[in-house]
Amino acid sequence: MVSFYPGPSRVYSQIPEYVREAYDQGILGINHRSDTFAELMQSLKSLFHEKMDLPENYRVVFTSSATECWEIIAQSLLQTKSVHFYNGAFGAKWHQYTQHLINEAEPFAFNKEMVLNTTKASISKETELIAITHNETANGTTVHPDIIKSFKNAYPQCLVAVDATSSMGGVHLPFSYADIWYASVQKCFGLPAGLGVMILSPNAIGRALSYAENHHYNSLAFILDNHSKNQTHYTPNILNIYCLKRVLEQRPSIKEIDRQTHNRNHKWESLLESKSAFDFHIKNPVVRSPTVITMEGEPEAIEDVQKQAWQQGYLLGKGYGDLRDTTFRIANFPALEDSEVDGLMQFLEQYQ
Ligand SMILES: *Cc1c(COP(=O)(O)O)cnc(C)c1O
Repeated sequence: MVSFYPGPSRVYSQIPEYVREAYDQGILGINHRSDTFAELMQSLKSLFHEKMDLPENYRVVFTSSATECWEIIAQSLLQTKSVHFYNGAFGAKWHQYTQHLINEAEPFAFNKEMVLNTTKASISKETELIAITHNETANGTTVHPDIIKSFKNAYPQCLVAVDATSSMGGVHLPFSYADIWYASVQKCFGLPAGLGVMILSPNAIGRALSYAENHHYNSLAFILDNHSKNQTHYTPNILNIYCLKRVLEQRPSIKEIDRQTHNRNHKWESLLESKSAFDFHIKNPVVRSPTVITMEGEPEAIEDVQKQAWQQGYLLGKGYGDLRDTTFRIANFPALEDSEVDGLMQFLEQYQ
């Protein structure tokens, strides 16, 4: 069975090999304050600069999940107010999590067919952080990086934070366009769940150090203090840290992966366009995600295609939340092999 679920999704075929390697090398039982761990961490960080195009002055730290990143941002980078732009369930959840922790988290819901625009926003002076979901996994929309950059230019007093959970590792992200980007590894990195990645700009680090919030085990100042020693704030998921390192070593540069993702997406679009039983959930091609393809149809057709695909060995993603009965999703993630993508395409081509 091949999982086209947009997370957790298909993991790289090499994962069992990497797990074996980690075991044989004795890495699984090492202390996270040891030199061996620090070396592993150091080489993983270098790979982010090398393979993921992370700017020299940006930092990458590791958490347990994207959800943890929601809380870290609210706890450690906010004292007064955030504004959240979203058009789907994950962006809405980020807003809710933030609202539980700070007094003022302002929601700004926008139409899923709309290109987000800075001029529509009224960001008040006391706003410290703007939250944007780069890739809304629930409905398959994306916000173009140029728009993210325009927020940073229009509101230089604000940090811009981006949820890139279902896009980081699958498309090239210009990290310098925002201050905080985060993801978890069970989506485009093709790894088992249980590790989060958080990218921080010099401004984000400066803000964390000046607030010096230290009330939590995962306070950002504490994470950064450990980061500078190539350590982590708790005993981490060393197995996944090792596998992430090996996956990045094995993969081409993110620009090459980006090309492959877009090529595959174009193939998906031209194939799916011709299917009368389904329509693109997002009609405006400009805001359609290249990594999470979302199709809509009558509930009976949605149920039927999922069932038939399953019988052929393909797990399609169910619709998320409110969209559960009326959509299905296809992950366009790099760990899927050409033969698997071709196989599902053939099935859908024949499907009536
Ligand atoms: C999957 C996902 C999350 C949550 O990730 P966890 O690893 O479960 O914390 C958050 N945001 C988006 C956009 C996602 O796709």
